[in-house]
Amino acid sequence: MIDLTRNWTGRCYRCGKKVLNHTMSQFNTDLLCLGCADDEKRHPDYSKAVNAERDALKQGNFNFPGIGWTGMPKPVAPSDSPADIFGG
Ligand SMILES: [Zn+2]
Repeated sequence: MIDLTRNWTGRCYRCGKKVLNHTMSQFNTDLLCLGCADDEKRHPDYSKAVNAERDALKQGNFNFPGIGWTGMPKPVAPSDSPADIFGG
């Protein structure tokens, strides 16, 4: 495992909040406050990110940088979005 904790500045990479506890993003190597880490669990690609990292580890790639974080998708009104928008 790469140890990125040495890069921890005391601030969440994503929201900039000063926090004591942090964890690494599943999408990239950002160090996040627990609130932002929780937010990304609601991202439609979260399981994809987790699976991609697991697959990389299985292949011995311990420096997998993640699938990339593009931010939370904009909330879509259920009435004008196809049901399978997050499918696949
Ligand atoms: Zn944060």
